[in-house]
Amino acid sequence: MAEYNIAVIPGDGIGPEIVAGARVVLDAVSRKYGHKFNYTELYMGGCAIDKFGVPLPDETVEVCKKSDAVLMGSIGGNTSTSPWYKLPPHLRPEAGLLGIRKALGLFANLRPCLLYPQLSGACPLKEEISAKGFDMLIMRELTGGLYFGERYTKEFDGVTTAVDTLSYNENEIRRIAIQAFEVAMKRRKKVSSVDKANVLDSSRLWRKIINEVAEDYPEVEVEHVLVDNAAMQLVRDPAQFDVMVTENMFGDILSDEASMITGSIGMLPSASLNESKLGLYEPSGGSAPDIAGKDIANPIATILSAAMLLRYSLDMKDEPDAIEAAVSKVLDLGYRTGDIMSDGMTKVGCKKMAELIAENI
Ligand code: NAD
Repeated sequence: MAEYNIAVIPGDGIGPEIVAGARVVLDAVSRKYGHKFNYTELYMGGCAIDKFGVPLPDETVEVCKKSDAVLMGSIGGNTSTSPWYKLPPHLRPEAGLLGIRKALGLFANLRPCLLYPQLSGACPLKEEISAKGFDMLIMRELTGGLYFGERYTKEFDGVTTAVDTLSYNENEIRRIAIQAFEVAMKRRKKVSSVDKANVLDSSRLWRKIINEVAEDYPEVEVEHVLVDNAAMQLVRDPAQFDVMVTENMFGDILSDEASMITGSIGMLPSASLNESKLGLYEPSGGSAPDIAGKDIANPIATILSAAMLLRYSLDMKDEPDAIEAAVSKVLDLGYRTGDIMSDGMTKVGCKKMAELIAENI
């Protein structure tokens, strides 16, 4: 029996509920496929501040580093009312998330954007586009570019000027390019690299390195798309994309655009990977303090994040496919949590939704 160590960070708000849902499904996978998952629950975010006075205890970092993968719920509270947000920035919940990303060297953020035909009514695009459905993944570089470059505001000749620096070196580009092609090999084998090579030097280097890495993956089709065109194509014909890879700021913007066209934040998983197989898997949404503790949160994004964990960190195929098929089956059967509810469907809570998916593994 294969054994795996999974670090689990339930976090704050709906985090513990949605993570419990994902564990119910992982347990069903372990029973069916004969794996053993050893879970270690860890503190991070607001709950860690309350217990230890810091958002990221050393033990959390140490255990995550030694694990095969990390499954996370979400961290943070109501930013207007929670006392956590009266603390200095480096002691607030979000500092825990930035800290763990840094400690684990997570440089590639993966956000699949899939429109389930059963939920196509929630897609804000025209019906002729949404009816085709789409299943793409945006891979965003997470640790370089404009957000990490030198920045300052100075007066030059009496005029206040703000400067931000966008820089990438070839190694930073190569490692994310490799991840993009590796992920494409597990999907439909197409990479769309997004840049602004008609203007930016950093984009011209980006394009050169993507082409170099592409030579090692002859089975994968590669295309280069300018970022302005990519933003248009996402709403015109999202079905054309499989893996879209791009630098930090372009990815920040395009991944939000892509998640918007799927219609529901409660359905969107995400993963952040480092150079080894270690990854942190979490739903794209936050801790939703407005609905926490009421058993109404949608656990599907976290359950799909667990499927990504099996695929990308544990190199499994049938098991994540089974989770995704079970989600689709339960939607086919007409079960919905409140956020994706529509007429004629059966409304269920967070716990029940997870149990239904587990039963269909
Ligand atoms: P949010 O994503 O938590 O909530 C936005 C809206 O979406 C809310 O109405 C919420 O009820 C709903 N929602 C989110 N997830 C849902 C789910 N699974 N099922 C049903 N409905 C869901 O965003 P916010 O309100 O801006 O942020 C709340 C807190 O979460 C803040 O402290 C923020 O910093 C934190 N946050 C954490 C992460 C993370 O842990 N990675 C990410 C984003 C925000």
